[in-house]
Amino acid sequence: MTQPLCRICESIDVDIVLHFDEVPRNIERLLDSTSRDWDKPVELNVYQCGVCGHVQLAEQLEDDFYEDYLMTHSHAKKMQEFQRKQLSTFVEHFRLQTARVFEAGCGDGQVALIIKEMGCDVFANEPSAKARKACKEKGLETINGYVGRGAFPDLRGTFDAVVARQVLEHVPDPNDFMAGIHEMLKSGGVALIEVPSLEQAIEYSRFFDFFPDHLSYFSAIALIHLFSRNHFEVIQIKRAMDGEYNEAWIKKADKPGLAGLQAAADTISGAFRDFLHTENTSGRRVAIWGAGAKGVLTLSMVDTSPVAYLVDADPLKHGRYTPVSALQVFSPNHLLSQPVDTVLITALAYKDEITADLKNKYSFKGKIAYLSGSRILEDSP
Ligand SMILES: [Zn+2]
Repeated sequence: MTQPLCRICESIDVDIVLHFDEVPRNIERLLDSTSRDWDKPVELNVYQCGVCGHVQLAEQLEDDFYEDYLMTHSHAKKMQEFQRKQLSTFVEHFRLQTARVFEAGCGDGQVALIIKEMGCDVFANEPSAKARKACKEKGLETINGYVGRGAFPDLRGTFDAVVARQVLEHVPDPNDFMAGIHEMLKSGGVALIEVPSLEQAIEYSRFFDFFPDHLSYFSAIALIHLFSRNHFEVIQIKRAMDGEYNEAWIKKADKPGLAGLQAAADTISGAFRDFLHTENTSGRRVAIWGAGAKGVLTLSMVDTSPVAYLVDADPLKHGRYTPVSALQVFSPNHLLSQPVDTVLITALAYKDEITADLKNKYSFKGKIAYLSGSRILEDSP
């Protein structure tokens, strides 16, 4: 058997933590007298990732694995009551009563029907033809196939919410599955993801919770890793159904966009040049206050030759020079012996303190300006 990669963090640092010699290939499929001939036990190895702690199997399932899957849970009264309560809480919390909701892996449509009854416009995917037929008979619209990156291009960005109950643990590539959900959600869309709780299996020594159908065994921590990696904000993860499940509420987060920062860096030298030019042509000498990290970096990107001098309150910096921009650092007392008309503050965190010092300690009556992103703003008197 080849060594698997972690299904969440893709680390090769995964070790066998649990081993059974012989288990059924499919624990949800009971056999009849003819199929008993091909019934063969399989070996089961459970692995844990040394990096993120995720628990999983190495195997992949055959393509037709879910064709004959038995969906028996939805007949139990306790389960139906639980689902109704769980979904109404979710729908009410996020005010989804008239929203468009996608259910991933809807099975016989029991849950999709509950969501539909709450007023939502429900659509679902289901790989089993038998289950899709059952959904059709209930008046539920479904699509064939598995959720994943690029799986349903026509559905991209069209849902306010996604529900995936007892699906993620069967999925070969949880990152691909979460990417698929991310794609289908509108900006700021939410999802309810429910999986069997790994914590429950460990707390009650439930070795029988591990079987070939479940490729992953999620703890709350592993879920947080998975959701964060796939640009979801975790709203809450709680144990549900007497602790049997980990139920997560998550929200689609957009990747932080840095394009605006590049534009700011590209325009700072122009803004600086224009400011100094305006000041100097009006006969106003400009000093800069602030030789801290942010000021030093900004000064390295601009032409400082029209600057009269640079001051900083830190005595350890006096007499030294700024890297790249090569300005000598003076004490603020320099403002008294070599007066200027304008002071430009680069030490933003201390802007208010410096402004107060300029007015009170140094009796400065000139113009005070400060750096804000790529703009130079003037302090209102
Ligand atoms: Zn991992």
